[in-house]
Amino acid sequence: MSHNLVWYYVMKCPFCSCEESKVVDSRDTDSGVRRRRECLKCANRFTTYERLQPVTLFVVKKDQRREEFNKDKLLTGMRKACEKRPLPTGAVEKVAEDIETELYALGKPEVPSSVIGDMVMAQLRKLDSVAYIRFASVYRDFTDITDLKQEVESLLANQPPSDGQLTLPIKP
Ligand SMILES: [Zn+2]
Repeated sequence: MSHNLVWYYVMKCPFCSCEESKVVDSRDTDSGVRRRRECLKCANRFTTYERLQPVTLFVVKKDQRREEFNKDKLLTGMRKACEKRPLPTGAVEKVAEDIETELYALGKPEVPSSVIGDMVMAQLRKLDSVAYIRFASVYRDFTDITDLKQEVESLLANQPPSDGQLTLPIKP
């Protein structure tokens, strides 16, 4: 399966880092498009060379094997963690899409699986504490109950549980 996604860069103004600019001139070149832009914030002008190219992103696993990034696989893992949790429809899909976008925006041909795992953890943490702990327990492979306890405690310290309790799906 090949993902032919379009790779794009955020066009930041080199003067003030503002991400919004207007195109004042546009020319095709052999490898893409040369654009003259004007920053909407500081009005300075700068040139960008933009190209569209198909990109395949590879994930480097712990044992250094590489495999093509697969959003469905990411979704499967996240759905498992979110099973039977009261989440809005499409919330998990949205997170997977955001992560995919973020990964391609890194502009790298390969990404360690740990980077993806950390992104998922950060998103799930915001979404649902139980799903987060479930995912973390698999991903981090908690071998020591103290690690797990610390994770839960830091979670509870940062966000007061809405339903008054955190039920743990993990057996020590
Ligand atoms: Zn600017």
